[in-house]
Amino acid sequence: LPGVAEVRVLMTSERRTRRLVAVASGKGGVGKSTVSANLAIALSRAGRKVGMVDADIYGPSQPRLLGVEGVRPKAREKTLIPVETKFGVPLLSMGGLIAPDQAIAWRGPMAGGALGQLVDGDWGACELLVLDLPPGTGDVQLTMIQKHKPAGAVIVSTPQDLALIDARRAIDLFAKANIPIIGLVENMAGYACPHCGEVSDPFGRGGAEAAAAELGIPFLGRIPLELAIREASDAGEPPAAGNGPGAASFAEIAGKVDG
Ligand code: ADP
Repeated sequence: LPGVAEVRVLMTSERRTRRLVAVASGKGGVGKSTVSANLAIALSRAGRKVGMVDADIYGPSQPRLLGVEGVRPKAREKTLIPVETKFGVPLLSMGGLIAPDQAIAWRGPMAGGALGQLVDGDWGACELLVLDLPPGTGDVQLTMIQKHKPAGAVIVSTPQDLALIDARRAIDLFAKANIPIIGLVENMAGYACPHCGEVSDPFGRGGAEAAAAELGIPFLGRIPLELAIREASDAGEPPAAGNGPGAASFAEIAGKVDG
């Protein structure tokens, strides 16, 4: 049996090799949580040991997306044990730590402290943690990323949002904390017809890719606005877990994030 000192060394190296990938957006409702869940599942399908940290205090939606709504994490001593999901992506969510009506009054230090409990959960063999951040670019988000230093950040944006300055603010937030931007995902890009599957582009095409190039960050891919994505997400069956076109898109994005 290893002595206590050896166990400590083991635990330290385990922590050091675990990478945090933050997923952020300039504002709410752009699909940040949806992209986070699907990205985590796609990384898991590619053979990575991935966990999900749901830090979205304003609307923790990972329990629903990953099909474990209402399941509270257990704890060993003071360490939280992630909730297993059927996608092979264990989850710890702010939703499990707080009552919904408490959330909005949180300040940076409190949110940062609670996030620490999630990040320092018993993640076992997980080598990668996807961090679903709260939307926006305020103090809470800055505190979180300064304290937990993600290895990189994925920015989620809609085409309209990019024309505005929200996504740029999100990128700036990570620059302030010296966190590299892994790239930009354009969500709700074009509209996929529920009948024939054809994707049309009411807002034009290529704007996000051009904006990413202009900002000097990699473009990771585009996900259409598609009824099936919302339905599958609401049902706790993210498309990345299936075999449809959504799964292929998320697999491609995951490959770039992990590349
Ligand atoms: P955020 O985390 O940015 O607030 P969510 O991931 O919760 O956004 O998404 C907001 C809503 O939009 C949800 O109902 C979700 O199912 C839906 N949604 C997200 N992406 C898509 C998409 N590509 N196609 C259709 N619906 C989507």
